[in-house]
Amino acid sequence: MSRVLVVEDESAIAELISINLRHAGYEVTLAASADQARAAVDAVLPDLVLLDWMLPGQSGLALAKQWRAVARTRELPIIMLTARSDEADKIGGLDAGADDYLTKPFSTKELLARIRAVLRRKVPEALDSAVEAGGLRLDPATRRVARVGTDGVREVKVGPTEFRLLHFFMTHPERVHSRAQLLDRVWGDHVFIEERTVDVHVKRLREALQPVQCATLIETVRGAGYRFAPQPGGAP
Ligand code: CA
Repeated sequence: MSRVLVVEDESAIAELISINLRHAGYEVTLAASADQARAAVDAVLPDLVLLDWMLPGQSGLALAKQWRAVARTRELPIIMLTARSDEADKIGGLDAGADDYLTKPFSTKELLARIRAVLRRKVPEALDSAVEAGGLRLDPATRRVARVGTDGVREVKVGPTEFRLLHFFMTHPERVHSRAQLLDRVWGDHVFIEERTVDVHVKRLREALQPVQCATLIETVRGAGYRFAPQPGGAP
């Protein structure tokens, strides 16, 4: 399930957005100011932020710039919401690092379409599309994992956390992910969970993949973290 942080000070609009997003299957957190939004992101990294431009105190624009300046939130998908339709403001929002821009009032249909487009581009693991990599097929909609080989299809049983971890690995192959990054992207939390937790779940995931000879897809990169390597030995 994708986590969306809605930063909006007008409670009626915030409520309406959150009802619609929850109905569409998103997990929603609300923040009514830049300070609340910062605290929410510091605690749990969302998959996407809907960020109102005009907030009491610090503006959404200034907040977006701050997030873009920090490594942990540099890639955080942000859709700016605003009542303004001024072209100069729109350019300002995109310059500040927003991935997209919605002018109020907007329809729920448009909002959902924009969210999906940004997620598809930036956070493929937050979507429900099936993925195939390294001879494995993972389907978030049915929550199934299978080894797909010339000898047929063999189902792989994995626990819920291992499923999310494998989903993240398969949608981000070849790259090395540190334990802190995995906590942020898979658990949504880098502060309250120990990094050793990652090792425990990677071990479980390898055990689950062992019966179909796929445990070696998850490589340990000494001193750095883990990598999903569909091609043994890393990318050519
Ligand atoms: Ca506002």
